[in-house]
Amino acid sequence: MKRILVVTHCILNRASKVESYNMEEINEENDLRKELLNEVFKKDIELLQLPCPEFTMYGSKRWGHEKNQFDNPFFKNHCNTILKPIIEQLIEYYTNKEKFEIVGIVAIDGSPSCGYNFTCKGNYGGELGGCRSLNEKIESIALENESGVFIEELKKLLDIHNIKIPIRTLKDEIIHLKNL
Ligand code: SF4
Repeated sequence: MKRILVVTHCILNRASKVESYNMEEINEENDLRKELLNEVFKKDIELLQLPCPEFTMYGSKRWGHEKNQFDNPFFKNHCNTILKPIIEQLIEYYTNKEKFEIVGIVAIDGSPSCGYNFTCKGNYGGELGGCRSLNEKIESIALENESGVFIEELKKLLDIHNIKIPIRTLKDEIIHLKNL
């Protein structure tokens, strides 16, 4: 029996992330990634990497966004397009239960795309040049108790195909793997 863990793209590839200057946040997330991967290798678990919806839409020079900007039909359509081959793989693993067990999907809390328990929302948008309310826009950002757009679309696709796989944050998945 092969056990498989599905992970958001940047858990394995930090190059896809928006450039950040918050070293405390970067170091904390990096420590969690290492702890998760340590457990994955210790328990001999396979990894399936989700695509990064933001990198594949806006590339490496994108600014940080918030959920309100991605909550539109075009970004959702992009999420569904890149999730199609993933869902097909999940169906194959999920239906062959005698050979495979999908132990979970790991999300990145806070992300407007890949957050699970929390996502960042606010009042972004418009031209930065000449914007007299830039500080107000930045201050409008807050974490809210909902999933990001990519995870919401993933949840809908899992429901459509009647695939039941728990989604967890990095911290929760580490605890889960330690108890496996
Ligand atoms: S969109 Fe998701 S996978 Fe891409 S960098 Fe953000 S959290 Fe990571």
